[in-house]
Amino acid sequence: MMDYKLSRYNFTFPYPKHGEEQEQTVLYNTRTGSIALIEADKYEQYKQFEERGIPMADEELLGNLKLGGYAVDSDFDELAAIKYNLYATRFATNALALTIAPTSNCNFRCIYCYEKDSIKPITMSEQTQEDLIAFVKQYLPVIKHFHVTWYGGEPLMAMDIIEKLSAAFLKMCAEHSIKYTASMVTNGYLLTRANAEKLRKLQIDSIQVTLDGAAEDHDKRRFLKGGLPTFDRIIENLCASKDILPQRVSIRINADRHNIDRVDNVVRILREKGLGDKVQPYLAMVENSNDAYNDNSCMHTNEFSKCEFDFIMRNGLNIVGRTPSQTGNFCGADRRGSFVVNADGRLYRCWDDLGVEACSVGTLKDGAKDCPQMFAYMLYDATEDPECRDCKFLPVCMGGCPHQRLQNPKIRCTGMKYGLNSFMSVIPELLERQMNEAKQMENNGTALD
Ligand code: SF4
Ligand code: SF4
Repeated sequence: MMDYKLSRYNFTFPYPKHGEEQEQTVLYNTRTGSIALIEADKYEQYKQFEERGIPMADEELLGNLKLGGYAVDSDFDELAAIKYNLYATRFATNALALTIAPTSNCNFRCIYCYEKDSIKPITMSEQTQEDLIAFVKQYLPVIKHFHVTWYGGEPLMAMDIIEKLSAAFLKMCAEHSIKYTASMVTNGYLLTRANAEKLRKLQIDSIQVTLDGAAEDHDKRRFLKGGLPTFDRIIENLCASKDILPQRVSIRINADRHNIDRVDNVVRILREKGLGDKVQPYLAMVENSNDAYNDNSCMHTNEFSKCEFDFIMRNGLNIVGRTPSQTGNFCGADRRGSFVVNADGRLYRCWDDLGVEACSVGTLKDGAKDCPQMFAYMLYDATEDPECRDCKFLPVCMGGCPHQRLQNPKIRCTGMKYGLNSFMSVIPELLERQMNEAKQMENNGTALD
């Protein structure tokens, strides 16, 4: 009886190496995230074992396969390990992550905004701010990390509240030796140099700005209340704060069938303006989450996944950091120590539920409730789902976006399910290049010593 077996999460892809006769094979494992290249003779041994149960004679090969999780002990239950990891992450008590809307007001009126119909200009009252601080205080004795994402509405419309609450959070974390990190999702219109300076002081070290393409597309969809365009002002803001922007500024480019042919224009403009090495553009799939968007415009996940890959390659963007990696749970919506806090003090699980009172799971004052909405997010277990438990993408997907699962389970699958082939056709070469560059730098450093 063999004491090892191949992982059920292995993927293999042919990888023709230029100028060499022997074809290599890429091995990728979704449970461990390992990527490896193996030579043809070794892959033959792998296949003989997989197809005919012939033991691998090459000890070194077997050792390496075990190291990467491509081969596991024969009694190792990979599904149980994934389930264990899910519970450990989901119910961990060592971290608190709050997405806070200091205001539900917004200066934009985007055509697809899920909050468009529910926008009431509520800004967080003094009382709610105090309730929020008291809510955080309850966690201080147990947590090691507190992360805040400033969200909205448009958070920069409530900069005074952000300053006040951040000061309180920083003080509490310093007193309890808790790591504090913060980020912001903004439309960028009010991201003036003065505000960028404030964000830096408040340790907000990651910002996401959303565009819908260059001006020709963006201004038709993301305009001010009243209709005025916003694209040029956002770019001017980024340029004016270039030297003080946080290290991570991601530019989310919402893409659909109407603007997909022109999304490269955004990258071109960012580079022309000298922002190429300051910001990281990426494509995001527009979804018709509140019927505010035309279904025919939205791409399907597989269609989007191909467009995204082509966009990355055409524009020479960094692909290496996008290696799919194992996740315990999908996002904050199904993690115990994570809440979305509305300006009125209501608590939610998911960003897309914000402001929909029926989806609230409690309040800052009374805490989270054991309500159906809470259970719907927290008790779903993808390892028990008939479709997911047999899916090789389970470790990197974990059943997909919980909100989508509740709204429309048919479209929840990860984009990686459709894009893995294209991704793996280039990733080994890029990783190899990156490793060579690192070695080169190391050698140069050694030579200087
Ligand atoms: S459940 Fe989906 S939509 Fe909601 S926060 Fe998580 S990833 Fe985003
Ligand atoms: S949601 Fe889809 S891709 Fe994700 S684990 Fe389930 S079946 Fe697989």
